Amino acid sequence: MEKIVQPYPWRLVYGRFEPAQESLREVLCTLGNGYFGTRGAALESTESKIHYPATYMAGLYNKLATNISGRTVYNDDLVNCPNWTFLTFKIGDGNWFSPSVSRLISFRQELNMKEGVLLRKIRFQDYYGRKTLVETRMIVHMANYHIAAIEYSITPENYSEIVTFRTMLDGSVENTGVERYRQLNSKHLRAESIGRLSSNGVFLSVKTNQSRIQIVVAEKVNLFVKDKEVKMRIRPITRRLLKGQERIGQEFKIMANKGQTYRVEKIVALSNSRDSKIESPLTTSVEELKKARSFKELLKTHQRVMAELWDKSDIIVEGDTFAQMVLRLHVFHLLQTASIHNVNIDAGIPARGLHGEAYRGHVFWDEIFLMPFFETHLPQVSKSSLLYRYRRLNRARQYARDNGYSGAMFPWQSSLTGEEETQEVHLNPLSGKWGPDYSRKQRHVSFAIAYNLWHYWKVTDDLGFLGRFGAELFLSIAQFGASLAKYNFLDRRYHVKGIMGPDEFHEKMPGAKQGGIKDNAYTNIMIVWTLIKAQEILDLLSFSDKRRIMSKLGISEKDLRSWQNITKSMSITIENNIISQFDGYFQLKELDWKAYRSEYGNIKRMDRILKAEGKSPDDYKVSKQADVLMLFFLFSEQELKAIFDRLGYRYDADILKRHYDYYEKRTSHGSTLSKVVHCCLSHKLGRQKDSWDWFCEVLKSDIYDTQGGTTPEGIHAGVMGGSLDIVYRRFAGIEVGHNILRINPSLPRQWKSLRLRFCYRNYWVCLLVTKYQLTVTIEGSSGLDFVVPVEIKGRRYSFSLGRSYKLMLEKA
Ligand code: BGC
Repeated sequence: MEKIVQPYPWRLVYGRFEPAQESLREVLCTLGNGYFGTRGAALESTESKIHYPATYMAGLYNKLATNISGRTVYNDDLVNCPNWTFLTFKIGDGNWFSPSVSRLISFRQELNMKEGVLLRKIRFQDYYGRKTLVETRMIVHMANYHIAAIEYSITPENYSEIVTFRTMLDGSVENTGVERYRQLNSKHLRAESIGRLSSNGVFLSVKTNQSRIQIVVAEKVNLFVKDKEVKMRIRPITRRLLKGQERIGQEFKIMANKGQTYRVEKIVALSNSRDSKIESPLTTSVEELKKARSFKELLKTHQRVMAELWDKSDIIVEGDTFAQMVLRLHVFHLLQTASIHNVNIDAGIPARGLHGEAYRGHVFWDEIFLMPFFETHLPQVSKSSLLYRYRRLNRARQYARDNGYSGAMFPWQSSLTGEEETQEVHLNPLSGKWGPDYSRKQRHVSFAIAYNLWHYWKVTDDLGFLGRFGAELFLSIAQFGASLAKYNFLDRRYHVKGIMGPDEFHEKMPGAKQGGIKDNAYTNIMIVWTLIKAQEILDLLSFSDKRRIMSKLGISEKDLRSWQNITKSMSITIENNIISQFDGYFQLKELDWKAYRSEYGNIKRMDRILKAEGKSPDDYKVSKQADVLMLFFLFSEQELKAIFDRLGYRYDADILKRHYDYYEKRTSHGSTLSKVVHCCLSHKLGRQKDSWDWFCEVLKSDIYDTQGGTTPEGIHAGVMGGSLDIVYRRFAGIEVGHNILRINPSLPRQWKSLRLRFCYRNYWVCLLVTKYQLTVTIEGSSGLDFVVPVEIKGRRYSFSLGRSYKLMLEKA
């Protein structure tokens, strides 16, 4: 595999066309603006073994039924929307150009992350020896989220000939991006109408066949010739409208002269009937298209917004070009997935971005890994993802009731309506067999929402949000948590049964017929934490808000007392000073890790290996990902100690070290999220080498597709957010405490300096960390008589706005 050609800090560059790498590159070169994301596929391509051009719009799902092995399964897919990117050309009567079939002389593809532009420069030669230079630029507009544009230039190098350009809006696309879902029905779109808008404009209107969401894409195409630096609009010799059942396109013939550059500008506007405050998608697309004047103008306004976004969110690393580039790639892709526009969009953040179809574009708990970035850079995104949950509270309440609980139980996989979208059967690609999927029993997803909500409030101090929406959401989750916990009079502790922890390998007790385990320590502590914070939230509310919400949710003083009891008597199983991942874990068999490693090499998905061998991971001490360790990842030592003290369990100074050493050995890291957690914790433990190795793994996860085939199906938004979280929380050592900002930097040895910005309670804070010095600037007008309390390496300071403070750091 060709790795990154050269480590450019702002660019992802590919210097050769490699068909086998195309699907990965399409994901890594995806452009988006939070409203929609378009894979960076060759513009000339349609779906094939090599290419998968696809566009996904935030929150746009459609559900289809399929009969498999005698049962009906439903898949609610993030819909592959009409392909708007198609554009190609042919010389005379030759073949249509495409990098995968034409003879390439040279190829270079570049994602310019700073400007948000995808560029290609290709030279090719056809059968008759005619050489052509093809240069393309593409943007998905960050200022006007309906707009995207392509600039497609060709220069005939050694010939003059008639050239035909062809563009297309293609509504015949299906969701076929993930091989193992191909048995499922995938045709989500039905064409509604297609037509001409003007002499150079066409539109396509489609509707999803179950959720009835209308999508309208409109395009306009202009042709130019560049003559001695002067750009002139040209009229084609002929124009042709290409009209099919589900697609519409245009063909333009021009006379192309040797040495001159001909440019096609294709501007498109996309909208759908879920858009807020619009008359109709057709009017919106047509109007927005009219307003979009030229590629050049669009590029300018797009670059301006990109620059504003980078100004807030860039991380500057000195001394490590690879990390520098990949961290920017991660920021970039988070911003393509969710952006400033999300305030107007009712959607959660899909675990695999707007980049591919893995997990059908569903929203999981992964937001817990990426919210720290959004909370501190674009808090409106965090708010919008919380509102996405708030709007689905009634569904979550229904889901809880249907399962015999109170409050709001959010689904493990969520999409359009907020109902549970997790499949009940799952295909093991190793054995080719379908088996039961109990992963929906991961009730901890609800507490992750509560956790994100609390942190959103802590960082932003947005009390208004808390009063109007947040508290109701939080307390409904608390009600659910309390109803999960059942009191046992024998040991006088509360227990939680029939659920799963984050480790997806343990679905049930060995030999059990029913899914679910008992007393997953992570879930139980999350419930305790939620119930403690529920009381704090109530204390933050105004008297009238508190009364209103408690009466709306039917929460009585007695309930509050019982919640307090749970926070003091929840059970976790501890044996030999080790917290058991769940009750019964210590009775499981040890796995012969060495033997499996030598037999299979890659044993990340031990569940599939064991199942294919006719065994069950339920029988072994083998975890897919951090589970107990999640507690040490999410909470500070003080927070966790306070919970343990309250529960009457011992918490000592070595607790993290003991648990890290115990569980790391028994974890296969089959989820990229696990690497983030282990990186963070080994850094906490001061294990420089281990944490650095983990960090490198985290960075490589997507750019090198280290899981071998999963990134082409979408980014791992969690690992991307997690990598940034490591930099902020561990390397820069930022911790938002109660009314205090703590900063305890600890740079990796390999880095010379780190510079970053983040927003803390309406103030932008800029940090520059070098080996021995920390510079903190709280931005703002220095005239204001206001100080921000900051604690650095245990010492308290009061920093004024608009001033920079330099502090010496002790040598390590
Ligand atoms: C992980 C989950 C995660 C999901 C989506 C799974 O492989 O085990 O923790 O939420 O992927 O990213």
